[in-house]
Amino acid sequence: MLPPILLAATLAFPVPPAPTSAALLAQVSEQRLKQNIDALAAFGTRHTLSDTASDTRGIGAARRWIKSQFDSFNPAGGTLRAELESFDVPKGPRVPTGANIVNVVAVLPGTRPESAQRAYYVVGHFDSRNGDAMDVTGDAPGANDDASGTAVVIELARVLAAHPLESTVVFLCTAGEEQGLLGAKAHAESKVADKALTIRGVLNNDIVGDPWGHLRIPPKAPGEPWTLSPTDPATRPANLTVRIFSEGLPRTSDPERLARIRSLAAEYDSPSRQLARYIASVAEIEQTTVQPAIIFRPDRFLRGGDHSAFNEAGFTAVRFTVPNEDFSRQHADVKPRDGKPYGDVPEFVDPAYLAGVARLNLATLIHLANAPDAPANVQILTANLTNDSTLRWEASKETDAAGFEVVWRDTTQWQWTHVQDVGAATQITLPISKDNVFFGVRAYDKDGYRSPVTFAVDAKK
Ligand SMILES: [Zn+2]
Repeated sequence: MLPPILLAATLAFPVPPAPTSAALLAQVSEQRLKQNIDALAAFGTRHTLSDTASDTRGIGAARRWIKSQFDSFNPAGGTLRAELESFDVPKGPRVPTGANIVNVVAVLPGTRPESAQRAYYVVGHFDSRNGDAMDVTGDAPGANDDASGTAVVIELARVLAAHPLESTVVFLCTAGEEQGLLGAKAHAESKVADKALTIRGVLNNDIVGDPWGHLRIPPKAPGEPWTLSPTDPATRPANLTVRIFSEGLPRTSDPERLARIRSLAAEYDSPSRQLARYIASVAEIEQTTVQPAIIFRPDRFLRGGDHSAFNEAGFTAVRFTVPNEDFSRQHADVKPRDGKPYGDVPEFVDPAYLAGVARLNLATLIHLANAPDAPANVQILTANLTNDSTLRWEASKETDAAGFEVVWRDTTQWQWTHVQDVGAATQITLPISKDNVFFGVRAYDKDGYRSPVTFAVDAKK
């Protein structure tokens, strides 16, 4: 293990802790989230190829309702702008004759001119399906998958509409997810060449409301059995986690980039992994009731999600999902069981848990979008064989940036464990062997908001 050197003794530039986000987090409403889920489920089906003319049933009614919600949140003089974003996609395995895919997107521009070009996304897919991916008329309430994620997106837009952040926040409700990530793919591809707004991080919420289905409780004493799914709220554990999935090797890696990752041993240090670590740090700072469970894997087996469409287009993106999934309720036809409808219905969504997930998303957005940009070109100088480490990086272009912190960890640790403030310097030599640890650098501003970490790569000169 690394000795905890260079911490207290050398903190020459004390950096304030980031301000607490408690006041905004307290505005997230369980009741509002529950109303959003109920309203979305009440459209009967939100299948991507379902009716678009009706005002009460089908995906057309659902998307108009979501847009009306975004529009209603804008205060007088507010800057939140919502639109229906339409793409024609060619025929494919789950769109036999092609389709018109309509996402609902709301943009809240950043308040600092030089930070507003960076965009952070919160995403949920509002389309749904039942047991047959091609059943366009049968009921598909999709309360957990993914009215829950959509409800989070809508609720965060409500809270932030009156409190814009320094960078731009985009609230994206996608369609066509169940037909092959079609809405997210079309949106992400349309942003690849966009110079006016750069996607810097995507929080995809898919299946975030129903955590109790297959919760396995470990035995209290050796020899006792595991128990499943406590139905009595009194016996449930007080705090639950939400899983954060992130890719290791970026999907866009060509052979040259893969060779570079191999030589650096950077297979755990993609930008999406740095975002996952960042979420864990924010959860610690803000003491969120729902804590992240970091999973170093792109997604669950046999399942996919919209974050992958963003990864595919070269963007940093992670997925939030409940700790335990009940597969008997997902992608299922609603059938009676014990005299009640059984399937992906609102009764199985826990608004208190969902509010916890929403607050973790909100806290992450507040920190990301108020922090300076992550440092560019972070390098470890490897010109000569030495037992110390010289790091350098580019100065920040943002006027409220106040300095940088070098972070490092043992090669076997998942999270950054050590930090040294270096003030406004853009180079430092540390008496630690670069052969033995991973290094990164993050920027901070005068308020104490930290950027995500940029992983340090080698440079011979
Ligand atoms: Zn889903």
